[in-house]
Amino acid sequence: MRKKIVAGNWKMNKGFSEAEDLITEIADALEEVELTRVDVVICPPALYLEMATDIAEESNFSVGAQNVYPADSGAFTGEVSPTMLADLDVEYCIVGHSERRKYFGESHEFLAQKVDALLAHDIIPIFCCGEVLPEREAGIHFEVVKRQLEESLFHLPEDDFRAVVIAYEPVWAIGTGVTATKEQAQEMHSYIRTLVLKRYGSEAANEITILYGGSCNAKNAKELFSMPDVDGGLIGGASLKSDEFMAIVLSA
Ligand code: PEP
Repeated sequence: MRKKIVAGNWKMNKGFSEAEDLITEIADALEEVELTRVDVVICPPALYLEMATDIAEESNFSVGAQNVYPADSGAFTGEVSPTMLADLDVEYCIVGHSERRKYFGESHEFLAQKVDALLAHDIIPIFCCGEVLPEREAGIHFEVVKRQLEESLFHLPEDDFRAVVIAYEPVWAIGTGVTATKEQAQEMHSYIRTLVLKRYGSEAANEITILYGGSCNAKNAKELFSMPDVDGGLIGGASLKSDEFMAIVLSA
C-alpha cells in the first residue's frame, strides 16, 4: 500500500521561539496518537531546520526544507545546498511550489536540476504541479500539469522517480480559501497516475504518493483524503496551528 503523507509548508512565517513552540506542540501531540499509515512532514523556514531536526530526532515526524539550490557548494550567495540539508538530516524538500515559480521565475529545467540534486543526496523531493485559474478556465489544466511533470520529473530513471512525492496544487486554491472539490482533485490525481503509468508502468503508478494542496483544512481534509488517488496533503496556512494541523493529520 502506498505511503500517505501530510506535510506542512510554513512558508515565511513564525519567529524562532514561536516555531519552536509549534514544533514542540506537534511533537507532543504526535506522541499521543498511533499513526501507522501516515507520515508527517514539517517544512519550516530554512533557518529553523536544525532546531526542527533536533526535535524530530526524538519524535514521530520528518523535516522538509522549502527550497534548495542545485549545487553542492559555490558562489551562490544566500542559497542552501542539498549537502547542507543532508548534513542536518532533512529528509524532504519542496520543489516547484507555485510561489517559487511565480516570484523567482523558476523554470521547468531549473526544477529538474533541483530534483536531481536532492535525489543525489537521498532527499525526497515533494514536487508541486498545478495550473493557474486562467489555464483551468481555458480547459488546458491537464496539459499544463502534464508538461510540468514531463519537463521536470520524467527524465528520471524509474528507481529515482519512485522516490519522489508529487503534490497537485491548483494555484487558484493556494491561500485563497477556495478548495478544489474532491471530484476536481480526484480527476487530476487520477490523470497524473495515468501519466506515470504510461511513462513508468503500473508498479510506479500504484506506488507514487500524490498529495493535494490548496486551502486544505481541518474541515475539508477528510473528504479530500477519502478520494482513491489522493494520498494526503501539502498544507500551507492550516499547518501553522497545531490543533488544526493535527486534525488534518488524523484525517489522512
Ligand atoms: C501551499 O502553500 O502549499 C498551500 C497549499 O497553501 P494553503 O494550504 O495555505 O492554500
